[in-house]
Amino acid sequence: MNIRELPQSAVDHLVEYNEHEAVYELYDKASLPLGFIAVHRKNVDVPSMGATRLLYYTNPTDALRDALRLSNLMTYKAAAAELPYGGAKGVLMMPAQGAIDRRQFFTNYATCVNELQGMFVTGTDVGLTADDLAVLVEYSPYMIGYGVDAAYYTSIGVLHGIQAALQYLDHTDELFYKRFALQGVGKTGLKLLQLLVEWGAREIIISDINDAAIEQARAIAPFARVVDPQLIHTQLVDVFCPCALGGILNTTTIPELRCRAVVGSANNQLICEEDALALFARGIVYIPDYIANAGGLLSVVSQYENKYHDVEQVGARLNRLQRRIEEIITQSSIHQIPTTMIAQNFVYA
Ligand code: NAD
Repeated sequence: MNIRELPQSAVDHLVEYNEHEAVYELYDKASLPLGFIAVHRKNVDVPSMGATRLLYYTNPTDALRDALRLSNLMTYKAAAAELPYGGAKGVLMMPAQGAIDRRQFFTNYATCVNELQGMFVTGTDVGLTADDLAVLVEYSPYMIGYGVDAAYYTSIGVLHGIQAALQYLDHTDELFYKRFALQGVGKTGLKLLQLLVEWGAREIIISDINDAAIEQARAIAPFARVVDPQLIHTQLVDVFCPCALGGILNTTTIPELRCRAVVGSANNQLICEEDALALFARGIVYIPDYIANAGGLLSVVSQYENKYHDVEQVGARLNRLQRRIEEIITQSSIHQIPTTMIAQNFVYA
């Protein structure tokens, strides 16, 4: 695997391009693309941050678009969480056929990240395991999150978002009488399920395309009802929690929603800003994804900044984030505009 910077002309025609600082292509011996690293913003004296995902894409352009979109979102996420870092993202393409030699693959990826000399600091997102991160940490000083349960902290942030939304809607953040629909019970969805159960929720509907994930979820919440993944967003619930992949909130699904709030860990839940307007018009409280799920970033950044995982610091920052979420909901209500528009003010402040 090698790395090269793409010229602006190779990316600026894509709608996801937003004056990115730099975009790098990872490629093999035959010069075929293996993935991309997109750096959306680079702030002075600090790296740009964003986890790396490994996913199957039908073509390289889709992977590139994902990298552009997700790195942009990371800039928003860092700013909303009051962190000084710019946003970036690593997107690796899972080959269509055959298993990869993961150790070799991630050793090569670590070497490519090293070539950026600390401009890009990364960790694990969808498709990467703790074992993969162990390999990355072995070969690169620019990997963070090893030994930190980022999914847990992500889910704590989502829980805070759910509680803030319910407090606004019902003047209580009590979960016992509330109904939840959870899309995706992977790393973050499963942790969120656990938290919902711990906080008293008893009416939970779940879906996942992976049967093994459903089995794990059943062990945590045997009372949870499982529905077809195509139908999870249509369930009559108080809160819909998207914890799978992006794009779930769009012109098709929003009219089908039967919830009062949407709060989840998935990145890029909306296809476009008009979707936020459509949610607002329907009176659905939407907590912007990059704020609801910033807990994971806060947890790994703490390790990066302190060289150890400072649980108290993460807790304090998560509490500040919750105050921000509450403020966003209040301001959205006062000014009668979507929460996404209020949240943008934090980014440009
Ligand atoms: P994961 O891969 O561990 O879990 C995702 C789960 O969603 C899997 O079980 C998968 O089978 C399921 N899924 C995929 N498509 C589905 C569909 N159409 N319907 C139902 N289930 C489906 O990933 P994760 O780490 O839990 O991340 C989930 C989302 O949260 C991603 O968008 C990720 O970018 C975002 N996120 C994760 C973290 C983190 O700490 N892991 C932090 C911030 C944001």
